[in-house]
Amino acid sequence: MSAPNNSYDPVEVSALHPDEVERMRTEALDAIAKAAGLEELKEVRIAHAGDRSPLALANREIGALPPAAKAEAGKRVGGARRAVSEAVKARQSQLEDERDARVLVEEAVDVTLPFDRIPRGARHPLTTVAERMADIFVGMGFEVAEGPEVEAEWYNFDALNFLPDHPARTMQDTFFVAGPDGAESGLVLRTHTSPVQVRSMLDRELPVYVVVPGRTFRTDELDATHSPVFHQLEGLVVDEGITLAHLRGAIQVFVERMFGEGLRTRMRPSYFPFTEPSAEVDMECFVCRGASVGNPDAPCRTCSSEGWIEIGGCGVVNPRVLTAAGVDTERYSGWAFGLGIERTLMFAHGVKDMHDMVEGDIRFTAAFGMEM
Ligand SMILES: [Zn+2]
Repeated sequence: MSAPNNSYDPVEVSALHPDEVERMRTEALDAIAKAAGLEELKEVRIAHAGDRSPLALANREIGALPPAAKAEAGKRVGGARRAVSEAVKARQSQLEDERDARVLVEEAVDVTLPFDRIPRGARHPLTTVAERMADIFVGMGFEVAEGPEVEAEWYNFDALNFLPDHPARTMQDTFFVAGPDGAESGLVLRTHTSPVQVRSMLDRELPVYVVVPGRTFRTDELDATHSPVFHQLEGLVVDEGITLAHLRGAIQVFVERMFGEGLRTRMRPSYFPFTEPSAEVDMECFVCRGASVGNPDAPCRTCSSEGWIEIGGCGVVNPRVLTAAGVDTERYSGWAFGLGIERTLMFAHGVKDMHDMVEGDIRFTAAFGMEM
């Protein structure tokens, strides 16, 4: 900075020449307008409005002017500096608004999106139906029992009074488990849940009240109504003074709780090696309740217009089975039943094809959700 000099003419100081001040002003405003971001604007501000900026340096020259010239030069430079300062402020505010708007877009959370993008999955309906069936019997005082799926032939056949020449023991029905070098192993994939009857009597103190939901295996081809792997719910009661009336009552309670109040049940004579007498269990069709019988105008697909649906087999436990399991047949008697879980699922939920139950398509399973 120079000392005051009365003869000093501001137009002679190049930095204070109106054209020069105008040039610095224009240059500053240009740079401010072009600043694309807040960081860049900060640099522009230091360069054009800071202490070392051309306009600040020009301002210092004013002090050396003659008093008469100071006012005009001060007004010119001050005006330019104010314009630059205001432009910086305006641009700053504009860039901040842009940044805020961008952050709002980039960091926006769409609260309408599903918050849980991982499909939750669902339990297989065969599992949930089996549990519902078992729960009905648990409500009547039964326990749930289990047994191995690879079973000794003795439990699967002999103990249940299947004689060695019984057709069910041939290769047509049974998956036999090969031993070392193809020798007989004495093991099969259980063809029914009935071997758990024998296991339960051997394992437990009498009386026995058990239900056995489980997977069973037979050499059937997979089609709409058959599968080599299927599920049964076995029931067994062994106690003193047990009669068929108790069996009938237990089946009746099951049918009404599973399919609807007031549905009738009936038994038809049948034959199983491990029960004597034996019966097939039917329940009244829960869709037409018999109204379709002899009424071609209102056919029922669920019962094929027969009015009844077969749901399983049952009978009084053959004394030979009790004896095989070490039960005193003078004192105890019992009954047993077997219900098809696939059939129950088909009826309870209108599943038409066995393929849907075994193919593992999540779209089939998911429709049943988390039903308990
Ligand atoms: Zn019907």
